[in-house]
Parts: sequence; structure tokens; C-alpha cells
Amino acid sequence: MLVVMKREATAEQIAHVIAAVAAQGLTPHPLPGATRTAIGMTGNTQAVEQSLFELLPGVAEAIRVTKPYKLTGREMQPHDTVVTMKQGIVGPKTFTLIAGPCSVESEATMHETAEHLLSRGIRFLRAGAFKPRTSPYAFQGMGLKGLKILANVKKATGIGIVTELMDVEHAEALEEMTDIIQIGARNMQNFSLLKRVGKCRKPVLLKRGLSATLEEWLMAAEYIMAGGNYDVILCERGVRTFSDHSRNTLDLSVIPPAKALCHLPIFVDPSHGTGKRAYVPAMSLAALGAGADGLMIEAHPDPDHAASDGAQTMDFTALDKLLETLRIMAPLLGRTL
Ligand code: PEP
Ligand code: MN
Repeated sequence: MLVVMKREATAEQIAHVIAAVAAQGLTPHPLPGATRTAIGMTGNTQAVEQSLFELLPGVAEAIRVTKPYKLTGREMQPHDTVVTMKQGIVGPKTFTLIAGPCSVESEATMHETAEHLLSRGIRFLRAGAFKPRTSPYAFQGMGLKGLKILANVKKATGIGIVTELMDVEHAEALEEMTDIIQIGARNMQNFSLLKRVGKCRKPVLLKRGLSATLEEWLMAAEYIMAGGNYDVILCERGVRTFSDHSRNTLDLSVIPPAKALCHLPIFVDPSHGTGKRAYVPAMSLAALGAGADGLMIEAHPDPDHAASDGAQTMDFTALDKLLETLRIMAPLLGRTL
């Protein structure tokens, strides 16, 4: 249910509705709008009686939300979410790049990458310290040492950090040093992890699961928002199909329906989406054209010697070339890069 307040509703009346929601054992979610405030509620397993709220002072109407995803859906919030961070905003009219190696490697590599990105105006460095690898014998990431390297690079350069959280036990350490918490494709439906990041005070980049439908993906985002963390960025990274010409099938066709149903920003990861660095530029431009709000790209000073995912990782020359084209294309589509 969504309780829409009158334009002239006072702060006391809004607080009164919030208390009335809590009194029903439900969780209130105040949603301030440009002209009026709405209060969403979650936690009910059965229909909530509309008249409980409609008669309260300052209330314009109480609306039933028909979709199973309440907080992520446009029924509850028609306008696009803008995620605001120190490094800038993510959302409509902008096109944000996140780039960097698949894994955290040496401090020198991470510094070199951060310096390059910043010199090109890219404000977010990605790299995993905890890696979800198919094989238990493959490099599993540097773990806490990797987080320390990322923290050092951030301190020295000011670059924003995006890194993956794989286990609840590392949530605190990771939340403290990162700017965006990444939830990987394999953990899209790890509900304990989703609930935990719902309590974090950092934006979450939620990758789409390997075979997740749009609704399953939005419901995963719903878990995070239901916990009180409204800064969620979706990230399409390719799904599993019969096609074997690429590592995954980058499903850009999910962007228009995702945008129609949901107000959250959506990124595209063309590196995992294709698995081959030669295909990353074309799919990056296609993502921009399809309405994505940004890209997450794997880039490394020497991709052939990267600790993981080298085949899909761009070197800096290729990244620069792509960036040049994006800078021409983005403004034509009403976005600043
Ligand atoms: C990654 O970003 O390095 C990663 C492991 O991505 P995904 O979860 O999409 O496979
Ligand atoms: Mn990777």
C-alpha cells in the first residue's frame, strides 16, 4: 500500500502516518517527492485495510500496489532514482563509468589503474578482493589484503571503489572502505546477503543472476530496499543461453522493460556479458543506446597477465578509444559522461 499525502500536509501529519504504519507492525518507507510525500509500507502478508490510513489527517489517498515488487516498482515511485555519492550522481541524464581489473592484484597495478582512470575523468575503480570462481583451484582473490590495497588507493587518489561482497562476515569491513558494494550474479538470490546489504549505508550494485528473470531480479532488489537501503543500481551482465559464441548472452533487451517497471538505475557489464574484449566496445555503445545509465568494464594495464578474466579485459589504449566514442555519443542521447 502507498499512502499519498496532500500537497499541504504538515510534517506532523506525515509523522503521524508513519507511526500509524508502524503501529500495524509494518515497515514505513517515506518517499519524499517534488510536490508531495508518499509513504510506502511493506511487511504485510495479507491485504492492508485502506480505510486505516485514508481517514488520517493530511492523507490524499491510499493506493494498493499490485506488483509483487513494491519499493522497486514505478507504482510506488514514478520518478527515476538518483544515487548520490561523493564522486558524483548515478541516474538519468548521466552516464557513469566503472572500470578496473577483475581482481585486486598488486598495489602498483591498482594505483596505475586508478591514476589512468582519473586522468580520463572516470571516478570509479572496480576490482574484486573476494572472487566467486567456478573452480576452487582458481585464484580466489586477495581477501582482506585486497580490501586494504583498495582502501590505500582510495586514500591516495580519491577514486571511488566498487568491490564485491561475497559473505555476510565481511560486510562491515567492506562497507567501511568501499563506495559501492557489488553483489555478484551468483549471489543475486543469496537472501541473507541481500538482507545484510539492506542494512548497509552504501549503494549496492546488484548484478543479474545467470538465469534470473526480470521479476526475480527486481525481487532481489526489493530485499535490499525492504531493509532500508534505497540506493540500488541494477547491472545486466549476460545470462545463460544456448549461444556459445560468447561467454554469456548480454541481454540488452531487458533494459526497456526494466526501465518501464522499475525506477532504479541500470548498468551494463559488457565484459562478463561477452567474455571477449574485442566485443566490449560494440556492446558498450549498444548499452548506451538501449538506455543504460552506465557501464562496468574490466580494464587492466596488461590484460594478458591479469589474475582473472584477462580475455575479456581491455587495455588502456582500447579503453581510451571507447571513451572517445562514448563522449561523442552520450550527449546526443541527452546524457553527460
Ligand atoms: C565480476 O564483476 O568480476 C564478477 C565476478 O561478475 P559476475 O558476478 O557478473 O560474474
Ligand atoms: Mn571478472
